[in-house]
Amino acid sequence: MAPSAENRVWDPAELLPRARLAELQLERLRASVSRAGVTPFYDGVLSRAGVAPGDLRTLDDLRRIPFTTKDDLRAHYPLGLLAVPRAEVARIHGSSGTTGKPTFVAYTHGDLERWSGLCARFLVAGGLRPDHLVHVAFGYGLFTGGFGLHQGIERVGAGIVPVAGGNTPRQVMLLRDLRPDVLVCTPSYALHIAEVARADGGDPRELGLAFGHFGGEPWTEEMRFEIERELGIRAFNNYGLSEVIGPGVSGECAARTGMHVAEDHFLVECVDPWTLEPVADGEVGELVFTSLTKEAMPILRYRTRDLAALDRSPCPCGRTGARMSRVVGRSDDMFIVRGVNVFPSQIEEALLRVEGAAPHYVIEIARPGTLDEAVVRVEIRPGDFSDEMRHMVALRDRIDHEIHSITGIRMTVELVAPSALGRSEGKARRVIDHRRAGVPGRDPA
Ligand SMILES: [Zn+2]
Repeated sequence: MAPSAENRVWDPAELLPRARLAELQLERLRASVSRAGVTPFYDGVLSRAGVAPGDLRTLDDLRRIPFTTKDDLRAHYPLGLLAVPRAEVARIHGSSGTTGKPTFVAYTHGDLERWSGLCARFLVAGGLRPDHLVHVAFGYGLFTGGFGLHQGIERVGAGIVPVAGGNTPRQVMLLRDLRPDVLVCTPSYALHIAEVARADGGDPRELGLAFGHFGGEPWTEEMRFEIERELGIRAFNNYGLSEVIGPGVSGECAARTGMHVAEDHFLVECVDPWTLEPVADGEVGELVFTSLTKEAMPILRYRTRDLAALDRSPCPCGRTGARMSRVVGRSDDMFIVRGVNVFPSQIEEALLRVEGAAPHYVIEIARPGTLDEAVVRVEIRPGDFSDEMRHMVALRDRIDHEIHSITGIRMTVELVAPSALGRSEGKARRVIDHRRAGVPGRDPA
């Protein structure tokens, strides 16, 4: 498919033939390993593994390099993995840990330039044009979402309303008054915006949005349909994490059959989270990324904990980068109930099959005796909330049936009133596990 109005390509590198891409990757891998080796951390890692940049003869030699984990970043807090003099740092971002200190990542001016180009790639692939106006409801700050998308949108030349997160009624007011074409936020927040727009008597579809770019948390295909129906838009998925660069690691094209990884900037692997061996294309495993062009903080074989599958079959859009599936969960969010692996996304899929159940839920897992018990608290949609016991029991039974048919196990379903679970403006917390740490098989390698 030649570049056209429907199939614009930001960077010709997205169309590189695979053989040429592989040559470029190997050349860049050697340079990236050299840069990383400047830091005492990677110098130690590489010398213990007996790997010098010149030893990397094929891309498969990457597997001689040990993995890097979030714990490695924490152990070298705040900037132990910095590979350039501090004077060359142009920006610092960080990811909020659930507890304690963030982990920081640094960028040179060159890194920022490459990052904005990577965001421009998926924005353009999803239809962004210079004449569009974009409402950005991502947080601006240490979190990479706000600034990452902002710079990408600027690079494309489109207009921006940098609203940032929070105060949803005000977000709805700005959407109504300024009439942007595009919405950027987390998928759960997009649904919340629709909900608030509806609550004060409006129709969210009348906001006039044309499409949205959503990321920052895992979501399902059912949730995509829900967002598209509620807001009357086309919804595109994008992926990234601060440790690798931020948003822009991958994003969907118009075919929407997976997110093209920017493989000229990141090597991607998909491994079994227990054995750490590669899994076949099409199988779900943990994604591992190696940066090829980052200057300030190169990262080698970073274990993301994000679970997804890779697809290297040709895409009708002509981009040659491998496509990754949606993130179906986190290897450390995945929980085991009575010996069965369960992802929160499976619960979400079950709820979206049942009319009357809202996609707002919390799963609580406990082991009161010897057996695991999982309780799923689910909000009912405002119109389906009823005093009639028979109606509520039937609804609960349908949810119970769907959860059982998707996960293969029984969970206790509790229905709660609309809006009873509270809302998160960033990543929604879905799983509360009360079992003691160290439950056998619970923690991947
Ligand atoms: Zn494509």
